[in-house]
Amino acid sequence: MSSTASNHPEKSSSAFRFPDADLIIRSNDNVNFRVHKSIMRLSSSVLHDTLTLGDLTTLSTPSTPIVDVSEPSNLIDAMLRYIYPLPRHPLEDLRHIRRLLELGDKYDIQNIATAIEDLLLGNTITELYPTQFFALTKKFQLTRLRAFVETILVKKPFALLDEPQGPDEIDHITAEDIRRVEFYRRRRISSARQHFDLEGRTGLPMCECRTRQIIVDDYDDYQSEAERRKICQAWRTLTKICCEALDKDPTLDVTAKSLRELAVENSSCQDARKNLFHAYDVYVQHAQDQIKRIPWTFPLAYAEHQKLIRCRTNDGASIKFRFPRNSSGGRFKPY
Ligand SMILES: [Zn+2]
Repeated sequence: MSSTASNHPEKSSSAFRFPDADLIIRSNDNVNFRVHKSIMRLSSSVLHDTLTLGDLTTLSTPSTPIVDVSEPSNLIDAMLRYIYPLPRHPLEDLRHIRRLLELGDKYDIQNIATAIEDLLLGNTITELYPTQFFALTKKFQLTRLRAFVETILVKKPFALLDEPQGPDEIDHITAEDIRRVEFYRRRRISSARQHFDLEGRTGLPMCECRTRQIIVDDYDDYQSEAERRKICQAWRTLTKICCEALDKDPTLDVTAKSLRELAVENSSCQDARKNLFHAYDVYVQHAQDQIKRIPWTFPLAYAEHQKLIRCRTNDGASIKFRFPRNSSGGRFKPY
């Protein structure tokens, strides 16, 4: 709380001028917000102490006590809207959101962080600036929003590291955060790969690209080898292409025709096109359906993984974490 000299002419807030107000909050641009002491006391422990300890200016005319604050009127107006049941400004600006959170922290108004967290869950602005929002969730301990933003980060490989200019809260992002998001991403790719596994499927057409490679004397051996190998080479090529593409873009739709075209180009099987676009089409669709169901985060699996690492470390084994490569091929470095 500070008294601030200001050249701005004194004005009254149009929204906060309650006739029964018994307190004025004056912003640094000289706007008076006529509010209620009792509500301020209940909402903010800092304002409660200020009002209790008498750290305020009392003018004889008017006799309403004044609390001078160092923030501008637009921010105080936004803050008070989290205390009074008035329409709030839309959360469209990252800097504004950050300042509101800082204000909530400064004046210990817990409702601000909770309400902002609720409003941002599912808000598309978090997809535009996932690194910044992740850092904010760490700084202000917004655990629900952090879990939500993590799912966005898994969809954008290395977003935590690729940020050309780190957010103000960059120090709150740790190497473990990067490891955790990378763990989720790798885990997801590994699950996706399993959905391309056609071993044990019955009714698959035998492809010549496989049968002509089988050279055995015994008919039974031929049958068992043929069964083991019956999946066309082109399918394996497609699996590799899809997993590599999912690695770069975890939101990829593996039914995209371009992926199969690429697999045809890179396959030595002369029936690759016929197989991938017809006989195997149902399995491509199935893989996509299954991949869509894979969760984006695996907090329990990560906790187990961490436990395992701690056990190994305690046993004296050295655990090394290699930082992944970024989009331009350089090795990321820990902060
Ligand atoms: Zn084939």
